[in-house]
Amino acid sequence: MTEISSRNVKGNSLRSPPSPGAEAPPSPAGRGEKAGRLEVRTTCPYCAVQCSFDVALQSGAAVAMRPTKDCPVAGGSVCKKGLGALELVNHAERLLTPLVRVNGKLEAASWDVALERVVGGAQAIQDKYGRDAYGVFGGGSLTDELVYLLAKFARVALKTANIDYNGRFCMSSAAAGMRAVYGMDRGLPFPLEDLGTKGCIVLWGANLAETLPPVSQFVLRARKAGAPVIVVDPRDTRTAGFATQHLPVRPGGDLALALALLHVVVSESLEHRAFLEARTTGWDAVEKSVASCTPEWAAPHCGLEPQVIRDAARAMARASQAGELVILSGRGPEQQSTGVRTVKALINLALALGGVYAPLTGQGNGQGGREHGQKADQLPGYRNIENPVHRAQVAAHWGVLETELPGKGKSAQELLEALGDSVKGLLVFGSNPVVSAPDAGALETRMDKLEQLVVIDFFLSETAARADVVLPGSMWLESEGTMTNLEGRVLRRRRAATPPGDAREDWEILCDLGSRIGRPEQFDYANLEAVFDDFAACTRGAQADYSGMNYGKLEPRGVFWPCPSADHPGTPKPFEHGFAHADRRAHLEPIAFDTAAELPDASFPLHLTTGRSADHYQSGTQTRRGVANTKTPRAVAEVHPDTAARHHLEHGSTVTLETRRGRGEFLVALSPKIRADTVFVPFHHAGVEAVNRLTNAALDPTSRMPEFKVCAVRVHDPSSAGFSSTDLSSTSLSSRTPPAITSSQSKWGKP
Ligand code: SF4
Repeated sequence: MTEISSRNVKGNSLRSPPSPGAEAPPSPAGRGEKAGRLEVRTTCPYCAVQCSFDVALQSGAAVAMRPTKDCPVAGGSVCKKGLGALELVNHAERLLTPLVRVNGKLEAASWDVALERVVGGAQAIQDKYGRDAYGVFGGGSLTDELVYLLAKFARVALKTANIDYNGRFCMSSAAAGMRAVYGMDRGLPFPLEDLGTKGCIVLWGANLAETLPPVSQFVLRARKAGAPVIVVDPRDTRTAGFATQHLPVRPGGDLALALALLHVVVSESLEHRAFLEARTTGWDAVEKSVASCTPEWAAPHCGLEPQVIRDAARAMARASQAGELVILSGRGPEQQSTGVRTVKALINLALALGGVYAPLTGQGNGQGGREHGQKADQLPGYRNIENPVHRAQVAAHWGVLETELPGKGKSAQELLEALGDSVKGLLVFGSNPVVSAPDAGALETRMDKLEQLVVIDFFLSETAARADVVLPGSMWLESEGTMTNLEGRVLRRRRAATPPGDAREDWEILCDLGSRIGRPEQFDYANLEAVFDDFAACTRGAQADYSGMNYGKLEPRGVFWPCPSADHPGTPKPFEHGFAHADRRAHLEPIAFDTAAELPDASFPLHLTTGRSADHYQSGTQTRRGVANTKTPRAVAEVHPDTAARHHLEHGSTVTLETRRGRGEFLVALSPKIRADTVFVPFHHAGVEAVNRLTNAALDPTSRMPEFKVCAVRVHDPSSAGFSSTDLSSTSLSSRTPPAITSSQSKWGKP
């Protein structure tokens, strides 16, 4: 058994056991006694697998945690990120008191002073510039309850149209593609354990061995049973290490590859005719549309030999006769300006072979986060904010007039690009866009033009450090809540500690703000269970219907949505007997080819692609403060040895990379496992190591997803004209910028 002990830090004495009023009745699943210690079952704060952990309490403090053996999702298999989560709850850098900016510096303040400053600032901005001049930016790691409250706060208290969230940067292309073709976005339309029985698994731009490690066990189970595992990725990742075939696609070449694979299926009559006729519409047009998409046509776009493409298509078709084929995508094919059409092309390919496509959601509540109203175009339950019936249903539930609800607002990147222009105030909650948004250097400049920036967080993130008001909130262990994992399974997360110092539970902060802005009756909840019950009732009759759930029903194994009534068991396989369109069929569409918005040229000759590493989560606000950071304290640029030789780069040296938007400094790691035309950098680091200062904010026209996965980059030559060593530091500094989080830099060993 792996058990991680927490550090005792000053402030623990302020902690107390969960108050009885907030606890659910004792149950074997939720609370119990083990070796004389009280244990509380909760879920991991990080990724969308949402593994269960048992947290041990002593004298009211959380002192240890261990994976739950009967975890309903992954059976007790976890990863090092989850195992290291407890140390951060008690971290010395936790925010203990509200902060307000006085004479350019953040100073401790009372809650009254801080909240009144937020309310006064918001009202002044909205009086002067209009309701929509104040924006809200949420996050995909917030619980379902917080997403719901944030959506309500924006629409009912602030009455602004401008609310969106960082999940727009993760899941919006997959969600838009699935909603168009399937009629519903439910992430995985089957439980993870079903992966073990699939006939063929294609992992497209999904490095799950590093980003969702417990999922690997199910893929390996299928592999052991004889299913081919095909990995599509510019890098020979750990995941590619257990594949039967690895297709090292060129960044931005995913759409061409998907079209060419389907061309082979069609031209060799490998499609599953009976399935297409019974379950889909539009196949004839799709079939015709790929006539010219030969492997020879695709090869220059995707960087793969035509024969490799043919072999892969045949392997998929062969295997799909033995068992269901599933194509699982990560952010690789999705975070592109052609993301939605690429997802649709993958769905065409999967369904042509009688299989299914699904995305692997990344953030902890990336699924629930995209269902319940923090998207600019959505209301709770996956309702459409432009649909009069949907608007009336939610308005009635919230006790406001339908005409009072604002309309569709700006998407995440468009909201961030409006800062200082049409948007003068912003509340950020559960997100760190200074690190995670594309073209982040430009964002820093725009953020400093705001008349008010408010951040709710538990650490002083890079975004919080620029704020006018910082409100110290709660971490995962310090509040009740529910998370909807990548399977669409709603899991209960229990509270095992209280926030340190004067920090408060997040839901209390939102409700206090909502009341002070003038809506006390809409934000009057006794506890989080009351919030959940209100939220679940609000989704009644909607597509993402949680109305048959309650806290008790969610234990011990969670409930899959939709769950429309108290006696409904939930829906683990929503597409088992038909898709979600009225005719129960998938609506296939022909997909036209397009390239990435920015391709390499003579000036910027390499592809830059970005992604996650095993040690860090999202913008690193948490994991850069933890044990994991001692292993990977710096952002590492993965470079092929041939490319490195051309640019005189050595393993362990520092390289300056630059794009048309900015520069960054990264540690060089030579790797023969990456394409020679591509450089990879993870996006978890800040300051001059923030790769998002280099990425392209070109948006997919439908999902408004930025093109994180491909842009043109060059290795900077410091001896060339126009560069000085101050260029890098000057882009990171502003009057609001704090000292960087310090971290020891480990020596990068030789390969
Ligand atoms: Fe499980 Fe994800 Fe947490 Fe790792 S980070 S323990 S895979 S939920």
